[in-house]
Amino acid sequence: MPPIADNLQRVRDRIATAALRAGRRPEEITLVAVTKTHPWAYVAAALAASQRDFGENRPEEAHAKFIENPDAADQPLRLHLIGPIQSRKAKIALACRPVLIHSVDRTKIARKLDKLAGEQGVALDALLEVNVSGEASKHGWAPDALRAELPDLLALPRLRFHGLMTIPPYDPDPERARPYFMALRELRDALAADFPQADWSQLSMGMSHDFEVAIEEGATIVRVGTAIFGPRA
Ligand SMILES: *Cc1c(COP(=O)(O)O)cnc(C)c1O
Repeated sequence: MPPIADNLQRVRDRIATAALRAGRRPEEITLVAVTKTHPWAYVAAALAASQRDFGENRPEEAHAKFIENPDAADQPLRLHLIGPIQSRKAKIALACRPVLIHSVDRTKIARKLDKLAGEQGVALDALLEVNVSGEASKHGWAPDALRAELPDLLALPRLRFHGLMTIPPYDPDPERARPYFMALRELRDALAADFPQADWSQLSMGMSHDFEVAIEEGATIVRVGTAIFGPRA
């Protein structure tokens, strides 16, 4: 197993340093430890090192690891769903009881989640995923499409939106991601001005190789896997 406690401490230090450099308070930033493909033992090691927020990108894997697994029962953790949710996986996504779904990426899935949540008498906290780069392989709304659909999205009674999420095109140089992070923050600011009835406080952006740049550009949630748990198989 990789030295998870040491890795976590190093990531926390880097988050704090990046926040202070940007004139922000380190406590404003939530670290989501991304455990996809890794076994429960990795989660347990992070829990022992006081990590509380965990992220998974596939609802089925999340459910197996965090809900069906008896070791996960009564653990003081919050599960975030960070990957695209197919319509037929919406039910299992809800059964994961996520503290936040980062990746609502189209109106169809928003409606489906809202309907299921209504049937179950629960509310869902979520972010809207935006494709700021326009890359065809990326999920999420184009900024203009999101703006056009927002009145309908904000009217869904069981979904409570708290801000935006993005994944920029991969580039080993984190500075290349900065314009996309900046664009997400500017879009958030513009939408907050035009739709003040909603909560726009959260920006989920930044992964292992670029979270410091994301924090400098306003991230409130960073999603970090490899830097904590090592490479995925
Ligand atoms: C896997 C994943 C991450 C973490 O990626 P690392 O490069 O391992 O830090 C972050 N966000 C999403 C949406 C992911 O699927």
